[in-house]
Amino acid sequence: MTPTDEHRPYLRIATEEAWAPTEMIDLYRRHLSEGTIADIGFHSLMGYFLGSAHPQPRAVVERLHAAAERRLADMDSAGIDHQVMALTAPGTQVLDAEEGARIARIANDRLSELCRAHPTRFSALAAVSYEDVDAAVAELRRAVRELGLKGLILNDHIRGSHIDDPRFAPLLAALEELDVPLYLHPNTPPDRMIEPYREAGLDGAVHGFGASAGLHLLRIITSGIFDRHPRLRLVVGHLGEGLPFWLHRIDHMHAKQVASGRYERIKPLRQPPSEYFRTSIWLTTSGMPWAPAILFTRDVIGADRVMYAMDYPYQFDAAEVQAQDALPLSDTEKADFFENIARRVFRLEF
Ligand code: CA
Repeated sequence: MTPTDEHRPYLRIATEEAWAPTEMIDLYRRHLSEGTIADIGFHSLMGYFLGSAHPQPRAVVERLHAAAERRLADMDSAGIDHQVMALTAPGTQVLDAEEGARIARIANDRLSELCRAHPTRFSALAAVSYEDVDAAVAELRRAVRELGLKGLILNDHIRGSHIDDPRFAPLLAALEELDVPLYLHPNTPPDRMIEPYREAGLDGAVHGFGASAGLHLLRIITSGIFDRHPRLRLVVGHLGEGLPFWLHRIDHMHAKQVASGRYERIKPLRQPPSEYFRTSIWLTTSGMPWAPAILFTRDVIGADRVMYAMDYPYQFDAAEVQAQDALPLSDTEKADFFENIARRVFRLEF
């Protein structure tokens, strides 16, 4: 296929692009009106997106479950050749096992149909309900082997739990075996964490998402997941949810904690925490179209670990695409940033 404009020697692959089935939007509306989901963040986030009359959230929700033609037209208008789509946050992760599994199956079937109808324009990640790990492994296998999906979406905490809980180990082993990455995507912080954010109006993408997802990422690293699952590939949005800026201090303090034995949970790792950003973790620029942060992140973790994402439809803005195209990089570097790293990490074959 050819790029959407003539003078560009690479495709733009956007790697954190949100999507939702209408069934999930309807289910969320019902839970909101009946008060049958307790999660504080769900009411804050989805109460706004599904309840507000403001044109901004209404346009986002419309685009999340619009027909493929509208999404393709938006991609064309912004110069996006290909999207890696995933079930929008919180996805299944506020639902019980039965509802979550039903929504995951619907999402995986529908996303697979979209990808097969438009193989050069769409790829997608699988969704599962994390409530029943054996069922999640089975659905992941179906989604990857039978439906051709390219990874697994994890919309941050799992009703207050994190993926480093040992009960999720079979799912991480399945990701290794299937050779597909896990994408850690933000959500509102769990109830134990959200109140100081919410009372200040900061629980959403402004900072609460990043604080919670950054904590999740640091828990994954320090729990030794990558030592137990060395072939696991983890993709993280928003340039690593703040952690790249902290790497020196994290390494320094982690080493001190290991030496002092202060915490039972903090054990020696095979390498300093920062090294996992060079061996097991890839970052995307979703929502962070800001040259100083992108260049810093490339500098500290490596240009081969940072790839483009838009964060459609939440941050659908052609000017942000142009800002990243204007980064001070050669065409070869931009080909890696916009296309080749995504192809390698998600094993894209179109
Ligand atoms: Ca996103």
